Amino acid sequence: MKKIIVLTGAGISAESGIKTFRDSDGLWENYRVEDVATPEAWHKDPDLVLHFYNERLHQLSKASPNKAHEHLVRLESYYDVRIITQNIDDLHERAGSSTILHLHGELRKKRSQVNPDYIIDIDPKINEIKKGDLCPLGKQMRPHIVWFGEAVPLINTASAWVEQADILLIIGTSMAVYPAAGLVHYASPSIPIYYIDPKANETNNLSNNIIRIPQKAGTGVPYLVNELIKNQKNAN
Ligand code: NAD
Repeated sequence: MKKIIVLTGAGISAESGIKTFRDSDGLWENYRVEDVATPEAWHKDPDLVLHFYNERLHQLSKASPNKAHEHLVRLESYYDVRIITQNIDDLHERAGSSTILHLHGELRKKRSQVNPDYIIDIDPKINEIKKGDLCPLGKQMRPHIVWFGEAVPLINTASAWVEQADILLIIGTSMAVYPAAGLVHYASPSIPIYYIDPKANETNNLSNNIIRIPQKAGTGVPYLVNELIKNQKNAN
């Protein structure tokens, strides 16, 4: 099977009711990113950081995958599909995609602030990380999120996936957050790269051979998935 690598950003979840922050003047659900999504913020005001991520967890419980997440699953009958997502939500999983790499962490997990390898699921019945929620070493648990200014541990795995791609899809991302935005440069120059985002025509830091689809994910993804399935059926 041909390999399709899909790179998704906050835009794919926008139609599920989860806001991107670049579309809201750099605020993330009314918070400044520096106050809630950096190691400095955690050091300065862990209560605020926990409150912010607990709010995001509550919001995620009420959200459902949209057409874009769902149509990507259909591709798996025809292609070897792997998803690299910058999103911390679990909407790709809940839609049914089978291979997903979360570059920036996962909202539904927590980890020890002193041992990055101690990562566990947040109990869905509690659906929060509480102050005083300690790891076996007696230290506070933190969100399992890659904050701004932190290293991205899975970037090498992601770039190796992109190197092997026969087709690359980029969906709902401004291509402005590095190192994720740099992944496109690992793609072989000969493969087709499709970019679905309402602002696809405004992004300059991509090469000319990109096929731009300036639509919302809920419209652009079903369209492209149908085309890719048709191509594969015709090739057989
Ligand atoms: P981003 O830089 O990837 O930009 C969002 C993009 O989505 C923009 O290019 C915008 O044009 C596009 N977009 C808006 N509505 C869309 C739609 N309906 N369909 C398709 N595209 C649409 O994302 P960001 O908001 O700047 O977030 C950056 C980081 O913040 C993420 O990588 C993530 O770690 C975190 N974040 C995650 C979530 C989530 O998990 N759902 C939400 C917000 C922010």
